[in-house]
Amino acid sequence: MQLENKTILITGASNGIGRSVALEFAKQGANIILLARNARRLNQTYDELSQSGSQHHLILEADLLDLNNETSQEIFTAINNEYPFLDGIIHNAAVLGTMTPLSDYDFSTWNDVIQTNLTAPFLLTKALKALLEKSQRPRIIFTSSGVANTGKSFWGAYSVSKFGIKGMAEIFADELEGTTNIKVFNFDPGATRTGMRASAYPAENPETIKSAKELWDCYLWFFSDKSEGSNQNYYIFPEPGLIK
Ligand code: NDP
Repeated sequence: MQLENKTILITGASNGIGRSVALEFAKQGANIILLARNARRLNQTYDELSQSGSQHHLILEADLLDLNNETSQEIFTAINNEYPFLDGIIHNAAVLGTMTPLSDYDFSTWNDVIQTNLTAPFLLTKALKALLEKSQRPRIIFTSSGVANTGKSFWGAYSVSKFGIKGMAEIFADELEGTTNIKVFNFDPGATRTGMRASAYPAENPETIKSAKELWDCYLWFFSDKSEGSNQNYYIFPEPGLIK
C-alpha cells in the first residue's frame, strides 16, 4: 500500500492511461478524485476502484473545455469540502484533434485542443496549488508526448499543446522549487494501447503496443520518496529515461 492516505486528482480518469492509473493507485491505498466528461465511464471506473479502510473516492464530472477562473475555483471548493489537502495532480486528460497540415487546421478544433490539453492544466494547477502545499510530499505530473520535442507534420495543435505542456512543467518546476515543497514532473508515457493511440495510428496492430499497466511503476515512482531529488522531464519509451 504505497499510497495509503494520499489523495490524488487524475484528469481523464474515465478511460485509457488515466483510468488504468486510477485503478492501480486505489489498490495502493490512495483516495482518487476522478475527473472527466463521460458520467457512465466515470461511474464504471469508480465502481471498480478498490475501497478499503477509510478510502474515499470522488467523481468530478467536468468538461475541461469549460474551465475558466470560476469553474476551476468550483473544483477547488469541491475538493476542499471533501479532503484536508491534495497530494498530487496527474494532468492526463487530452484530445488529439485532427491530423491535418497546420495551414489547413480548423480554428475551432485548434482552440479546443489548446484549451483541453494546455490551458486547463494551467488553470487547475493555479487553482489547486494551495491545497497541494498542505501535503507533505506533493507532486504534479504533466503529460507530454514524443511530439513535444520535435515538430512533425500533421500533428497540429496536439503537438503544439504538448510542446507547451513541457515548457509549462519546466517553468512551474523552477518557480515552485525553493518556495514550496511541490515537485513537478513532465512525463511522456510513450506509445500506449488506448483509444487515442488507435485514432492516431488506425493501421497499427494494438497488440504490438504496451498496455497502460506497464506505466504503473513510473507513476508510483513519481509519488515515492525516491523521486525527491530528481529532475523533472521523463519518458518511458524505448526504456525509462530523462528527456535532455
Ligand atoms: P484517451 O483518449 O484514452 O483518454 C483521454 C481521457 O481524457 C479520457 O478519460 C477522456 O474522458 C478525457 N478527456 C478528454 N477530453 C476531456 C475534456 N474536455 N474534459 C475532461 N476530460 C477529458 O487517451 P490516453 O489515455 O491515450 O492519453 C492519456 C494522456 O497520455 C494524454 O495526455 C495523451 O496526450 C498522453 N499520451 C498518450 C500516448 C499514447 O500512446 N496513448 C502517447 C503519448 C502521450 P471523457 O471522454 O470521459 O471526457
